[in-house]
Amino acid sequence: MEPFNFKKKYGQNFLVDENIVRKIVDIPVKEKSLVIEIGCGDGRLTKYLCSKFDKVIGYEIDLEVKDRLLYNLSDYSNYDIYFDDFMKRDVLFDLNKYDYDNLYVIANLPYYITTPILEKIIDLDLDIEMIRVMVQKEVGDRFCASVGTKNYGSLTVYLNYNYDVKKEFIVNRNSFYPRPNVDSIVVSFYKKNRTFVKDLTLFYKLVRDSFRFKRKTLRNNLKEYNLSLIEQVLNSNGYDLSVRAEQLSIDIFCEISNKLSI
Ligand code: SAH
Repeated sequence: MEPFNFKKKYGQNFLVDENIVRKIVDIPVKEKSLVIEIGCGDGRLTKYLCSKFDKVIGYEIDLEVKDRLLYNLSDYSNYDIYFDDFMKRDVLFDLNKYDYDNLYVIANLPYYITTPILEKIIDLDLDIEMIRVMVQKEVGDRFCASVGTKNYGSLTVYLNYNYDVKKEFIVNRNSFYPRPNVDSIVVSFYKKNRTFVKDLTLFYKLVRDSFRFKRKTLRNNLKEYNLSLIEQVLNSNGYDLSVRAEQLSIDIFCEISNKLSI
């Protein structure tokens, strides 16, 4: 085959260290499983997913990888690849075609859209057994940040509201081709019992708005909300409207959201 032209704009850094690929797929898989992979590339992770899961749904934006990808999957038939932009895709519509009991997401994500991809997955509110993604190391730190630290942001709240987040292992930049400028980390998200939120859409919007300007107080970021209701919740937790979002735990965001949706 012709040499492949790696496209920076698509975040194409292929994982060349096969031991890392094996470690990524080294998880217990429940029966009637379906796994979603975003950004299959030439299929070096995809083929391991095919060997492990009952069904693999892959999304890949770059048609130029198609021949290589299908070649690498030639031992398998339990996959469907959608050559499309994952961000534009109606994933619920796609999933409706399949019969499965346990859903997984596993991917070495394109780094230029890590956050939008994860937000999309969370907004779909699917019942996912486990998400395991490779991301830039710095981004992984944000997933796991504790309240009050500089890395704690709306993404942290989103993710930790829905999942138990666990850092798995760091992957050196030399494990990729082309070599990126940063090291990576594999992070897992395990399904958990969420705190009850009456209106999930409001909750996500509230969190996003609270962190809109990180250095600003809640009073400034949430001007268009009912501030006196918010103040009541803050006061009962020992804060007032001069607090910044990064100081507030997930439970307090849930409480504010529920107060506002009465
Ligand atoms: N999974 C492969 C490739 C990872 S690189 C490996 O581990 O080696 C990221 C891949 O995501 C690239 O193949 C890139 O073309 C693809 N990609 C980038 N943006 C995408 C998008 N919006 N939708 C689907 N795939 C995308």
